[in-house]
Amino acid sequence: MGIMNVIPGVLDPIPGGKHIVNMIDYVSNWARANSLWPLTYGTSCCAIEMMSSSMARYDIARFGSEVFRASPRQADLFIIAGTITKRMAPALQMLWEQIPGHKYAIAMGACTISGGPFIYDNYSVVRGADTIIPIDVFVPGCPPRPEALFHGLLTLRDKILKESFRNPWVEGQKSETSYPDRWSEANKAWLELEKIKDLEMAEARKRFKEQNPDYKHPKALRIKKPDFPEIPRATPNLLGLSHSEVFTKIKSISTHATLFKDSPFELDTWPADFPLDVSIPPSEYFKFIEALKKDESLNLDYLIDITAVDWESHFDVIVQLMNLEQGHKVFVRISLDKDANISEETKENTVLASLESISPLFPAAEWKEREVYDMFGIHFSGHPDLRRLFLDEDFHGFPLRKDFTHPHIMKRPV
Ligand code: SF4
Repeated sequence: MGIMNVIPGVLDPIPGGKHIVNMIDYVSNWARANSLWPLTYGTSCCAIEMMSSSMARYDIARFGSEVFRASPRQADLFIIAGTITKRMAPALQMLWEQIPGHKYAIAMGACTISGGPFIYDNYSVVRGADTIIPIDVFVPGCPPRPEALFHGLLTLRDKILKESFRNPWVEGQKSETSYPDRWSEANKAWLELEKIKDLEMAEARKRFKEQNPDYKHPKALRIKKPDFPEIPRATPNLLGLSHSEVFTKIKSISTHATLFKDSPFELDTWPADFPLDVSIPPSEYFKFIEALKKDESLNLDYLIDITAVDWESHFDVIVQLMNLEQGHKVFVRISLDKDANISEETKENTVLASLESISPLFPAAEWKEREVYDMFGIHFSGHPDLRRLFLDEDFHGFPLRKDFTHPHIMKRPV
């Protein structure tokens, strides 16, 4: 549109030229405002509403926007729908830069506008898309319905219709606004109102008692709770070996294996569809898992997951295994002491425990162990490529550990 921007300078001084510029403006704005092509992009639940807006019931095609584009180079509208994490922010910025101008952005939903409910107790959420790219229209809601998105689309349309080659489109600025803490203000006002309400209620009760000294409160009407017959739980078909069979086998593999001591169940009361939770000393871990996999009757050949729990005093690493053919599952729990020699100051950013990697037995363990390392700072010796999975290499601390703190964490008001 470069050449078009010089037309007003040429035509405006000529008699009747203004009308021609107005006409060019009108036609160009009309075309642009009625054929906004959004980029196919959504990060969480708001995106579902955005998708439904293009379905037959809401039909975004009525506004000329049915052509959701998979490439930013073919789009001119960026509807940002959902929570934006700091990890996602550079990708979002890059997509925006790849959209050629004239281009517009709609921030859809509370999360996109301000970080929504996820700003509390969280280090990873961007507090508003307008802090990373310029936003033309904000559509509030959680999530906003398709009608609200259309309202935003029409608001943007009105904005585009006011553009002119006399005042050509330029990319807006990112907002530098710091957000006022509206939650605390609203909470304070609400608590004040509650106090007033309690006082008014107390006065009303007192007045009522004075005016009706003989009044007796009617006996509360009690509705008998219906007795629903106990419906036995259907036994799922694919449970494989019974718990006692599995545990007998496990005991024959290692005499040190015990049922998880804090489990609410005993072996004979363990629900049939609840995997057995077995503890094993760290020194026997690798051999034990190998035996569970190789044992002909157990044949726990599928690694469901590896996860961990930080109990402050120690970690539990939990390996979840399953026999794919028969269906029986076992959770293997390894309790790891935290390294007591690490000073309090350096503890937060230091690996505190170590365990052997089971990636030679299950290739899928490579990623799962990396996740446990990334989130808890537990080292896996023998892992072929132990580095962070979700977070940057220079990220400080391990977010799922109890000792984790972060300057960006905003505590939820109590
Ligand atoms: S605003 Fe609500 S619906 Fe939208 S992404 Fe956030 S939590 Fe989900």
